[in-house]
This record gives sequence, C-alpha cells and structure tokens, in this order.
Amino acid sequence: MLLILCLLVGLILDMAWVKNGINQKTRDTIQGLDIAINYQLNQIKTDLTLIDSNTTPCDKKNREELEKLNFYSSVIQEISYIENGVFLCSDRIKNSNIKVESSHLAKFEEQSGYVIYRATSQRRHIDALFFMVPTPSGWYRIMLDSRYIDYWIKQYTHKDQLSGCLGNIDDSFVCLNSPPFNDFIFSEQIRSEKYSYALTVGYVEASLKKVYFKQLPYATAIIITLSIFIVLLLNLSVNFRRSIKSDIQRGINNREFHAYYQPIVNSKSGHWIGAELLVRWLHPKHGVISPAEFIHTAESTGLINTITLHLLERVAYEKTQIQAENDDLYISINVTASMIINSRYVTELICIISKYPSLQHNVVFEFTERETFSPTELVELKLGMQRLREVGIKWALDDFGTGYAGLSTLQSLRFDILKIDRTFVASSVTDAVTHSILDNIAEMGHTLHCTMVAEGVETAEQAEYVDDLGIEASQGYFYAKPMPFDDYLSGICKPASASHSEAVETNTTTAHQQAIK
Ligand code: C2E
Ligand code: CA
Ligand code: CA
Repeated sequence: MLLILCLLVGLILDMAWVKNGINQKTRDTIQGLDIAINYQLNQIKTDLTLIDSNTTPCDKKNREELEKLNFYSSVIQEISYIENGVFLCSDRIKNSNIKVESSHLAKFEEQSGYVIYRATSQRRHIDALFFMVPTPSGWYRIMLDSRYIDYWIKQYTHKDQLSGCLGNIDDSFVCLNSPPFNDFIFSEQIRSEKYSYALTVGYVEASLKKVYFKQLPYATAIIITLSIFIVLLLNLSVNFRRSIKSDIQRGINNREFHAYYQPIVNSKSGHWIGAELLVRWLHPKHGVISPAEFIHTAESTGLINTITLHLLERVAYEKTQIQAENDDLYISINVTASMIINSRYVTELICIISKYPSLQHNVVFEFTERETFSPTELVELKLGMQRLREVGIKWALDDFGTGYAGLSTLQSLRFDILKIDRTFVASSVTDAVTHSILDNIAEMGHTLHCTMVAEGVETAEQAEYVDDLGIEASQGYFYAKPMPFDDYLSGICKPASASHSEAVETNTTTAHQQAIK
C-alpha cells in the first residue's frame, strides 16, 4: 500500500518536473529565436536605412547597393521598391511598372511601421515571406526565403520536440510547416512591437507525449528505487522503534532507569534549594544513555509512565537520605500531562506517595505546556493535579514560554513554579529581542504569582541578569550539571565552599522554598 502511494506521489512529482522542464525549454527557445530573428531584421533595416539615406530609390547607385545587400545576405531573395502601390524597381529589375496585387497592398498600406506577411510572389510564383521597411516616400519590400526561416525555426526547436512559428502581430501565422495555432497544448508567445511579428513556440499533444514517454523509463526506474528505499527505511525505523520499545521494557524490568540530580539554586546566593531529577538509562551494553535518545519512544509508547512510577519509588529512599541532611531541599520530578490526565496513573502515584512519608512534602511535579488538550482533558488534568496537591505535591510548568497554553489555561492550572525555558536565558545577555522577552516572561510569572526558575544558566553574566530580573531560582551548568545521587548527596553534606557549583549553605529558607512548602 505504502509502495503504491510512493509510486503515485513519484509519478505526480515526475509530471510536475516534466512540466517545469518544458516551461523552461519553451522560454529559453523562444527567447533565443527572438534574439536571432530580431538580429537578422535589425541588420536588414540598418543596411536599408543607410542605402536609402545615401541614394535615391531606383537610381543606379541605389540598385547596386541593394544588389550587394542581397548578395551578402543568406536570408534575402530580392529587394524591391514600391511607391503608391506600384512596384518600381528591384535589385535585379531596373524599371518596372507593375501594380502590387491589391490583397498584398492591403497587408501593409494601412500600417506605418515594419510589416511581415506571407504571400506567393507574383512574378516568381513561389511562397515567400515579405518584410516591408517604410521609407519617407514608399516601401522597400524584402522577399525573405521563407524556407530558410521555417527551416531555421525548425532547427531551433526540433531537438526539444517543440514547434515554433513566426506570425503577424494580429496572430495569423506566416510560417510554413507549423501546426495550427489551436493545436498548441502548451505555448509561449513573444510579440515584437518593433517589427510587428509574434513568435510562438510550444508543444503539440504528440510532441508533449513524446517528451513525457522518453523520460518515463528513467523516471520510473528512479521512482521505483526511491519508493523501495523509503519503504525499507520506514520499515527499518518501525523495527528500530519496536526494538527500542522492547529494550526499554527490558530496562524497566531490570530496573536500569535511575535519576540524576541537577541542583536548583537560590539565584541571589547560589545556595542549593532543591534538585530536578533527570532520568538516565544505565544500559548494560551502552552505558549511560541520556533521555534525548529514548524519551520520545518512551513517551509515545506510554512506557514513560511505568518509568516515572519506578523512579518515584526509587527516589523515595533517596529523598529520605536527603532529608536526613537537609529537610528544606525539594525534589522536582518530570511527569507528562497525559499521565496526570489518566486517573489510573494518578491513583498509582498517590499510592506510592502515601506509602513513603519522604514523598509527602518538598516534592514538585513538573510538566511542559507543549501538549495540547481538549476541554475535557483539561478538566481531567486539573482534577489529577488537585488530587496530587492533596497529598502534598506542588506543580511546576516546565519550559515556560515555548508552549501553546494561553494565560487563562495557565491561571486555571494554578502552577506554583514556572521554569523559564533555557532558550530565553541562553541568548538573553547577547540578543536584545530575547532580552526583552525574558523581561516580559519574568513579569508575567510575577503577575501569575508563581515563583520562577531560570533554566540553562551557563555563565556568570546570565546568572547576574536572571537575579536582576527578580527570578528567584536558577538551574544550569554554571551552578552544577546533573549528577548521580551519591555525588548530589555528598554535595549537600560538604561544608560551604567558595565555588558556586559547590555552594551548599542550604540552611537559609528562601522565598522559593516557602512556595514549595
Ligand atoms: P528538561 O526537563 O528541560 O531538563 C533539563 C535538561 O536541560 C536536562 O537535559 C539537563 O541536563 C539540561 N540542562 C541543564 N542545565 C543546562 C545548561 O546549563 N545548559 C544546557 N545546554 N543544558 C542544560 P536531559 O537530562 O538530557 O533531559 C532532557 C529532557 O528529557 C528533559 O528536559 C525532560 O523533558 C526529559 N526528561 C528527563 N528526565 C525525564 C523523566 O524522568 N520523565 C520525563 N517525562 N521526561 C524526562
Ligand atoms: Ca524538566
Ligand atoms: Ca525544562
């Protein structure tokens, strides 16, 4: 099914590609032809104008010059001079008094500029193309070799299966061998106002088919190969996801998921006030795997819920040890909004929390505003949050500023903490726009009466700026990276040190800690 879909899409794309190609070829060809024809007519016109200004029509010199012009031009067959509808002389005929056929006369007498028309020569009885150049008293009529022009157009267009035709400005074609105008399925036209000709180049049905079918075998081969490749790739990715899924399941069974702790600090003093728990997969084969590599699959398969429940149980014991060192430190655990919408998981979370007193205070759950909810889901989410609030859980909105939730949704969910996404912090000191965005976010946080945590603080400059904005808490590599529990615990136990990242004076209860309590 997928293969057929790929083939169909491929064929549609191929048609679009061919269309684009013929568009381009038509445009290029018509422009090339126009330049060439224009050049030829320009040449004739310039030479004739020069002859006319230096001689009197039909005198000896005039005819000699006309003869020379004819001789050196491959397009010209004869140059005649016409005055008052009478053909007076030509480069070959000295004196003549033949009246120009009225049908021919009508073609150019009503116009003042250069005229091109096709007619059968009266004297030679051959099909010819006439190019009329006006003089102050009459007309020079240049008989062009129409076969030459037709051949020329053919030459120009043939290799691309295009058809071309020279026409009058009134849209009547003057070329031989061209398809009727209506037969062009696709064509472009250029009008030369100067020489009053219209040039049409395009494809008729048969030639269009030829072009399409000529490339079809190659295109089909490419489309089939690509389609097979895409199907194989998708298959591979599905299998890969399936295998990651079963590997995650195995990891859950073997208790391979652990929490790393990243300290959250008081922005003013740098003292540790809590920690965010970031899951790490301690894989027996691949070592420590960061969430970026599995969290997407874990979330999309729902396995993240089991991981969270396992982490919470594991963390209950670790939290007891933290409490023994400093009862004021809080822990912040990542959950998904979908988990909280599901009442079954909320009940399981409440069960675990009720079992472990260490989880009954100083525990924050955080989730991002990236997921969108229907009104019913929003009601369920609020209900789940409330049920967990009743067992002591506080709520933080993660990656604040990157999601879709409107102010009213945020207000109705009543978060205790807003965690400002690290993208706003990262460029806040270098980029004026982000600078003002961070200002506004901080202000909005204060309006919502939430305490704020700036995420991703990496430099002293950012740390200072965050503090200046009144953002109470910070988290980031400037202070400390996520670390295994034992390192975190020993960080708490250490006496206060000079280094920011090792600052451990946690005995001062801050406003932020008040919010958690
Ligand atoms: P997050 O919740 O926004 O977590 C913060 C991430 O930013 C962590 O990446 C952390 O290591 C990183 N970080 C902290 N400070 C800095 C800094 O100064 N600079 C930079 N560049 N990065 C910093 P990590 O641990 O790879 O986690 C990535 C994401 O995976 C988390 O983003 C969270 O969305 C998700 N995640 C992690 N653990 C869990 C979990 O237990 N459950 C769920 N549902 N998601 C989790
Ligand atoms: Ca987080
Ligand atoms: Ca975050």
